[in-house]
Amino acid sequence: MDDDLEPSTKHEITLFGIPASPGVAHGQVFRFLHEELEVLNYEVKEEDQPKEISRFKEALRITYDQIKEVREGVAKNLGEKEAGIFDAHLMVLEDKALIDDVEKEIRSTGDNVEQCLYRVTQKYYDYFNQLEDVYLRERAADLKDISRRLIRNLIGATAAGTAFLEDPRVLVSEDLTPSDTASLDRSKILAIATETGGQTSHAVIMARASGVPAVVGVRSLTEGLSGGDTLLVDGFEGLVIINPTETTLFRYGKVGVRRKKLKDLVEEDAKEPALTKDGQPFQLFANADTPEEVNAAMESACEGVGLFRTEALFLRKNEMPTEEVQFAHYRELVEAAKPLSVTIRTLDLGGDKVLSQGDREQENNPFMGFRAIRYCLQNPETFLLQLRAILRASAFGNVKLMFPMISGVGEVIRAKVLLERAKNELREKAVGFDESIEVGCMIETPSAVTICDLLAKEVDFFSVGTNDLVQYLLAVDRVNNQIAYLYEPHHPAVIRSLEHVSRVAQRTGKPITVCGEIAGDPHFLPILLGLGFDHLSCAPPLLQELKFFGRRFTQQECKELVNEILAMGRPVRIKERLKEFYDLRVADLLA
Ligand code: PEP
Ligand code: MG
Repeated sequence: MDDDLEPSTKHEITLFGIPASPGVAHGQVFRFLHEELEVLNYEVKEEDQPKEISRFKEALRITYDQIKEVREGVAKNLGEKEAGIFDAHLMVLEDKALIDDVEKEIRSTGDNVEQCLYRVTQKYYDYFNQLEDVYLRERAADLKDISRRLIRNLIGATAAGTAFLEDPRVLVSEDLTPSDTASLDRSKILAIATETGGQTSHAVIMARASGVPAVVGVRSLTEGLSGGDTLLVDGFEGLVIINPTETTLFRYGKVGVRRKKLKDLVEEDAKEPALTKDGQPFQLFANADTPEEVNAAMESACEGVGLFRTEALFLRKNEMPTEEVQFAHYRELVEAAKPLSVTIRTLDLGGDKVLSQGDREQENNPFMGFRAIRYCLQNPETFLLQLRAILRASAFGNVKLMFPMISGVGEVIRAKVLLERAKNELREKAVGFDESIEVGCMIETPSAVTICDLLAKEVDFFSVGTNDLVQYLLAVDRVNNQIAYLYEPHHPAVIRSLEHVSRVAQRTGKPITVCGEIAGDPHFLPILLGLGFDHLSCAPPLLQELKFFGRRFTQQECKELVNEILAMGRPVRIKERLKEFYDLRVADLLA
């Protein structure tokens, strides 16, 4: 928790949402707005037009100062040449023709300045953008950027990116897409609070991976906020408190003390092996999206990377990266993890992970639609390119390959045919790769659960993606906060499915990992171990605490707990029972 901030004298308001990433943080609000701004259009009376023009001039001045500051920062940190990029931006802001055009537009149409500015800059943009000359086309992009910044300054909003923030802030947004999260500078984010989203939406998974507390699904959050407000985000309980009072901050200070105590205890255990109290080993792996996260994970003594989500690179770039770019990226991560293994999952675009400039059609049910392996099998060139890049990286370390969202045996067979083709293409060019690379599939659809014995004949290993499994099994969209109360990983249907898959994996001798978010939740640990899942993969910041808890109960206690839970009908009771089991062993240590 950020202790530097003074409690606010403004009115305190508590709002409830969904706890999405553990932790508590307090800080000044940063309103995150999407790249595409909604430009309001309203009429301005003739006598108010001079005021509208003054607003425009003021926005020009503020924007000029901001860019100058950015330019100075870049010159200091990166050099004068790089800083020169911003000179073009400054020139746009002083361009007399453009300024005159906007003023004329205000006078002749009687519309508000934002709308007039948008129209004029769009006209210039369209003109420059269709020119052959690359330099002039780049100026069109500058113009668009400047126009957005001006409009934000006119409406009093902050820029979408976090690059311009000096101090870390609490990010508040109506919603957050995975590509938004991918482009954020995480060192500038104390916590995240959004109006929409669910516990396992991908933007949230990324927040958890970087240890940023988050609460999602907070209705009317942005309505109540104004400039200068502070926000406390409680990612354990799913609360956000606008302008917390001194008493509230004191109360949260106490929560902070307990967390600190737990953190110290966890650190004391950091070098201990991952064994239950009676010596049964379990293996912890990291879920990672970037080679940097893999590096960080290696510090937390994990056994390797259990899930590398390749789509994160696509989302960050907002385009399909070339084979060379992908190869370099995978090689970097494979080398970072070496000699430990990395399970690279092939592209899982679709659902809530879409590229904004994609050629995709709008879908009514994106999570049930054109996603993951379905997309790859219909786009074999994209798939082959990725497979080649992964295979090439396999020559540099210990790589396993995994297909997402499998719903039938046919998909695995077709994916393997393409994998064979990618291997042959490399063999023809004498490019090296790991000839004995293991191939696995995710178990994250109800059909995959049901037919996992048949899938076992086609793959070397399984990985259970409970984030999707819960949504498909319970028919609850994982990012829809209106029905978030129905998204229950504790549901008996989920526990029974896990039991079935674990039994089949044991019978068929297939290694199996759980890599959905429940794998990182300590409350679930005794159940997963009791069901026979001893390979778990989760966000790196959660690994140590998981191991700490795993060392505080026996295998026998897990088995008894599983039997008890399997006989229970209501998810809330199961949840309470798991909490009780946890509290008895951990919370009491902190009292
Ligand atoms: C899952 O569904 O549990 C999973 C790990 O995959 P993702 O969250 O990327 O869909
Ligand atoms: Mg999934």
